Amino acid sequence: MPIETACLQVAILGPLPQIFSYALPENSGPLPPGIRLRVPFGKNSRMGILLGYGDCPPDITLKPIEAVIDTQPLLPQALQRLLHFGAHYYHHPLGNVWSAALPAHLRKGRPLPEVVPRAYRLARPEELPSRPGKRQTALITLLSAPTPVTEIPAPLRPLLQQALKKGWVEARTLPTPQISAQPLPYALNAEQCHAIQQLRHAHGFSCWLLDGITGSGKTEVYFETIRPLLEAGWQVLILVPEIGLTPQLLARAQARFGGEAVAALHSAQSDTERLRIWTRAAMGQVQLLIGTRSTLFVPLPRLACIIIDEEHDPSFKQHQGWHYSARDMAIQRARLENIPVILGSATPSLESLYNVQQGRYQLLQLRQRATNAPLPEITIVPLRRQYLQGGLSSTLLSACRDTLAAGNQVLLFLNRRGYAPAVLCHDCGHVLQCPRCSAALTWHRQQERLRCHHCGHEACWPADCPECHSAALITAGQGTEQLEEVLRQRFTDTLVWRIDRDALPGREGFASILEQIHQNQPAILVGTQMLAKGHHFPAVTLVGIINSDQGLFSADFRAPERLLQTVLQVAGRAGREERPGQVLLQTHLPQHPLIQKLAAGDYQEAAQLLLQERIQAGLPPCTALTLLSAEAHQRAPIQRFLKAARNCAPPSLHISGPQPALLERRAGFERAELWIEAPTRQEMQKALRIWLPCCQQLPEGRKVRWSVDVDPQFLR
Ligand code: ADP
Ligand code: ZN
Ligand code: ZN
Repeated sequence: MPIETACLQVAILGPLPQIFSYALPENSGPLPPGIRLRVPFGKNSRMGILLGYGDCPPDITLKPIEAVIDTQPLLPQALQRLLHFGAHYYHHPLGNVWSAALPAHLRKGRPLPEVVPRAYRLARPEELPSRPGKRQTALITLLSAPTPVTEIPAPLRPLLQQALKKGWVEARTLPTPQISAQPLPYALNAEQCHAIQQLRHAHGFSCWLLDGITGSGKTEVYFETIRPLLEAGWQVLILVPEIGLTPQLLARAQARFGGEAVAALHSAQSDTERLRIWTRAAMGQVQLLIGTRSTLFVPLPRLACIIIDEEHDPSFKQHQGWHYSARDMAIQRARLENIPVILGSATPSLESLYNVQQGRYQLLQLRQRATNAPLPEITIVPLRRQYLQGGLSSTLLSACRDTLAAGNQVLLFLNRRGYAPAVLCHDCGHVLQCPRCSAALTWHRQQERLRCHHCGHEACWPADCPECHSAALITAGQGTEQLEEVLRQRFTDTLVWRIDRDALPGREGFASILEQIHQNQPAILVGTQMLAKGHHFPAVTLVGIINSDQGLFSADFRAPERLLQTVLQVAGRAGREERPGQVLLQTHLPQHPLIQKLAAGDYQEAAQLLLQERIQAGLPPCTALTLLSAEAHQRAPIQRFLKAARNCAPPSLHISGPQPALLERRAGFERAELWIEAPTRQEMQKALRIWLPCCQQLPEGRKVRWSVDVDPQFLR
């Protein structure tokens, strides 16, 4: 296109669906797509990403940009394409997608930091200041050993510059850190060797499902598979679902490959720290990068393999703003970079199992525990007509006693925070509701607060029932706090640790509790999901599942799959070392087919059963699903919008609704949704591409907040 009529096309960071045009800057050379620009926007200036050049719209005077921030694109081609794909597939503004992918400091326009690994040390002692000040003394002490710039406190850095000029400090460029793999202390078993051999032969894009029972040595398979890649200077990315899992995996990887070239990124780090690791990775100085969801977007110029650990975990799906699945996007990245991707789990998602059946993924199985410890037996404890003490059957209580007496630890799993999930009136049955949500308030006794787990609303225990003014308010049901209390009363000499978000708000708290648990004294651990994931507790030999029945009745069609995965993951915490383990599963429905399959401990069989049900019901993974959700203070405008949207949908989509969301009201907003089904993801995409722009034009849409969730993982 002739240069006189060309303009810059810019995606502004933030939730703006449009692409904006700006005038070409005078006498600048060609600007590469993917650099940051500061551009005027309304009365302010905003950070944007240059997408490329476009035709200047006629008769409009375009504003000039304010500044060019980068000389080089921030992200390499493949990653830029990944972000475009992510915006397109999830029907989300590109500017917001870029914003989610970049470290906070880069979003705000800061320059890339200097990360050439340089160390500073004292040079000529004769040049040292004769009467050093306080800061100088600090610097002299610090630099008696070579110190990288990152370890020099900011207040000392101006002094450092002076000292360099005067010559009493010198800089040395450090060599790029190298992997130095430690030999394995044991021989890998035949299944592990087979898996590694297959994976090492993978070239180009291919997707592997490593289905290995808990403790089967999947992590060793990852490490051995990538070792030759790392030794040859390539980079590898490992994604984990939870920040809580990074420290232990990082420690293991550092012990195995040396500390320098291995790093982790997670949300507990400061923005500065995150940017430094990001930059080191982008320069190839980090070879093995471990992290949660957004780590997927870190540039890695020599990326050779992606691993997604615990691939079944729903935390890989982002449920605010840009609703992307980090697992699915990682597979897409592997495709764009033409490299293999490994999905690992003891309880693979039905999606991945289905993809294996369809021949899209290759399956590798590890069927025995690496340490030869047998898998724990799962025993059903029927609750019907049993006398329960704080939710504990006498069978479970006596098993606890025996386990503790033998010097072992007990893990009790209850996926409910707080003291009691509801408070009700003994006289009229009224349940205390959140005023802003269609949900009961949870009683938190330690803080003496009633809390809504959906919107954060808090209240104190009322003097009487708001309906009948009776003073007879009682708690109903049980949460981890109550379970902890009951256990402390019954086992007075035993350590009881509660592990949930209320007891351990910070990461440090969790780390220090983990340390204490690993001292392996007799103890009881009570906890939620936090306990279920990936942790290794060598002294735990008894696992009790307090209540498994909720998952059987939920309106979310994925609830049975989640139940199965959670119970088997928790069960996998028992007896991982030489002490054999047992699992007691309390239920009111001992005959339920899913409970029966659970007790058989065979995930594959149970998962196949669920998959058949999904196929018969025409639900994902054998069809594609999208949710169009709308919320507003009143119901009428939501209904009007959703009906109007439904009326303009192409016939290839099968739509049900409007129907109320699982949580009908949240934080004062009424909520409803349309379920949109199509036979395949391709057909879904084709139809959404026609339909959503029509929805955007609907005048009814201006009275509600609405959003699209492609491949939803949660009904909420
Ligand atoms: P997973 O990731 O499948 O849960 P891990 O890789 O954490 O399993 O292995 C479980 C434990 O078994 C770890 O302590 C690991 O060091 C050990 N392990 C792994 N492979 C072997 C093996 N071939 N022989 C002995 N121990 C092993
Ligand atoms: Zn009442
Ligand atoms: Zn609420």
